[in-house]
Amino acid sequence: MENKGVLVIYTGGTIGSVPKDPEDPESPQIVISLQEFEERTRKLLEDHIPFGLKFVSPGEYDSCNMGVDNWKTLGEIISANYDEFGGFVILHGTDTMAYTASALSFMFQNLGKPVVLTGAQVPFLHNLRNDGFQNMVAAIQIANPTWYDIDLVPEVCIWFNNSLYRGNRTTKINASGFKAFSSPNYPILGENGEDIKIHRRNILKVPSRKKFRLQSKMEKGVVMLHFFPGIQDSKILEETLKNREIKAVIFLAFGSGNIPTQNIELLRQIRAANSRGVIFLILTQCPIGRVELGLYETSAQLLDLGAISGVDLTPEAAVTKLMFLLGEAEGIPGVLRVKNEINKNKVGEQSFSIFSTNLGIEREVIIEGEIKRIYIKGSPINLPLNEDQINKVMLAFRKATLSKKDKNDSPVIFDIYIDVFPGDALEKGGNNHLGSFKKMPVLSPNYVFFDITKNGGWTIDEFASFTLVIKSTTDLFDYVSAELVLYYTE
Ligand code: ASP
Repeated sequence: MENKGVLVIYTGGTIGSVPKDPEDPESPQIVISLQEFEERTRKLLEDHIPFGLKFVSPGEYDSCNMGVDNWKTLGEIISANYDEFGGFVILHGTDTMAYTASALSFMFQNLGKPVVLTGAQVPFLHNLRNDGFQNMVAAIQIANPTWYDIDLVPEVCIWFNNSLYRGNRTTKINASGFKAFSSPNYPILGENGEDIKIHRRNILKVPSRKKFRLQSKMEKGVVMLHFFPGIQDSKILEETLKNREIKAVIFLAFGSGNIPTQNIELLRQIRAANSRGVIFLILTQCPIGRVELGLYETSAQLLDLGAISGVDLTPEAAVTKLMFLLGEAEGIPGVLRVKNEINKNKVGEQSFSIFSTNLGIEREVIIEGEIKRIYIKGSPINLPLNEDQINKVMLAFRKATLSKKDKNDSPVIFDIYIDVFPGDALEKGGNNHLGSFKKMPVLSPNYVFFDITKNGGWTIDEFASFTLVIKSTTDLFDYVSAELVLYYTE
């Protein structure tokens, strides 16, 4: 079989850096030209690489100076050379490598070849003790799997310090150590030892027969705001949200996705921006774990304002995913589509997808002796439902209030049934009973949800209807809209 060799795209970074003053190793590092890098590197590789290796460069940068237009150029280089080479290596500065890897992972549709980014903490051009040379050699090997008998990794990935990471799961975690990257919410794709070993079950499947395509339009109006205690005490955040250039805001929130909610003006600005079409995506500042909106009052409010969970996306993947999805979006319908798409897994960047279906506002409230039944009609759910893929099912209510006559300090008890119609008998503990839930009164409109997974919520079918039973006719439950929220994996 013809071996197509590897295209090495040199963009600069530490791997291509030398001290500005060759006599003074302490002088600031500068990036050398492609020509010099190629000459010196080829000398070191000599005849150790017995297949075609071509070096190109879109320009030499400290990666801190790279941005959306550079990602596009990189995409175009790979797209123009896609058929000619077996794989691609991008030599890149470590500072923004995870952003470039994430951006390319979204831009490449139906990628069937390895695209491996790597770089160095210590360059090999002037330092015998370095990580750059081994990083580069292994990346070239992974990019030419047929030659080295390595499993094909049809992904944009990062090779660093003997580990292969999915690019859009990776974050730079160390400014000086050789273990510069980590992929906190996804296992590594491969590792080095005597041989390079690929963990096959962790890699994406080769797209079947679909043609590779570049989709490189990116929206630049995305900002990321890191919360800290005290941010709510100034007007900076509120003023920022008024900026009309902004199309999407990422909140790096506390813990499972919480923000300070006592500043009413801030909430007002979020609501105003949201109704202008600005998308709010919530991430956690914690490197490990995921967002669970609604777990606390301080995040339930975000949901009620229309914010979306970023699940366990890295900040790098979140920014580039939004830029990518919004790049294609046209007008209000386009933005609405992005709102639906953003929390769906595209290329392995998040551990599960969230799908919400509006159950509408139609309901029937029936008083039956001592109890109150609220019947919520079913509506079509356009998801090919497969029980094994569903992790969590929630029945959620927006702008909901719940109160008790004279006594708002004790919970209201709900029993929830699936597909029990008005007039049908209620069989507690029977097949249609999804459980009993206690909810404390909610006096100002908020997001209220019931996790119905446990008792067979996952058996929902296309037109599932729900009945909420409240034990007392004087307990009041009201809401603006109801929805079914599914967490699922592909
Ligand atoms: N500032 C450099 C860069 O990202 C750091 C590195 O490459 O390690 O280009």
